Amino acid sequence: MKRKKELLAQLDKVVKSCHNCRLWRTATNAVPGEGDAKAGVVFIGEAPGFHEDRLARPFVGRAGQLLEQLLAKVGLSREDVYITNVVKHRPPNNRGPNKDEIRACLPYLLRQIQVINPKIIVPLGRYALEIFIKDQPISKIHGQPFKVGERIVLPLYHPAAALRSGAVSRNLEKDFAKLPKVLKGEIKPRVLEIKNEDENQLQLFK
Ligand code: URA
Repeated sequence: MKRKKELLAQLDKVVKSCHNCRLWRTATNAVPGEGDAKAGVVFIGEAPGFHEDRLARPFVGRAGQLLEQLLAKVGLSREDVYITNVVKHRPPNNRGPNKDEIRACLPYLLRQIQVINPKIIVPLGRYALEIFIKDQPISKIHGQPFKVGERIVLPLYHPAAALRSGAVSRNLEKDFAKLPKVLKGEIKPRVLEIKNEDENQLQLFK
């Protein structure tokens, strides 16, 4: 099998020429994701924003700076992890991605996860969370690790939400501090049952 880095680079090329939904029309650049192709942790945000769209890199604006600070506090840098988004092109005026856009982009995220094969998936905010754990509000399950198939899902608040609210910011910092312990197996995840009919979720954890 080809090296993970090459497989991700091939996927990046496909993402960059993707016209499977409308978002490419208004975006400047696609933002496939970046980081260590062999990372043990994959962070998944919502969608590229203004700065990400300009630079074709995920989490490079204010939310990205906060993410980097949080990573540093647990002894990690963005080069140690992989960072991507639910949708790979910026929605106009930073609106939330639509369901059809998420569906169109999902195969790219699934492939990234399959190639990287991380131990932990960290959905940042409700859009990413919904892909992995259905119908559970982020306000209820943030900071709790769940075993889903072979992986652990650790839902966290989105850093942009933390920039808007002191309470969310404190929760995010507290939850983030659990990451090394979850990685080392010192905090055990709860087992989450997946309903058979949910094809996307099943694919994610094969
Ligand atoms: N917010 C996101 O969800 N993703 C980014 O890449 C930047 C900000």
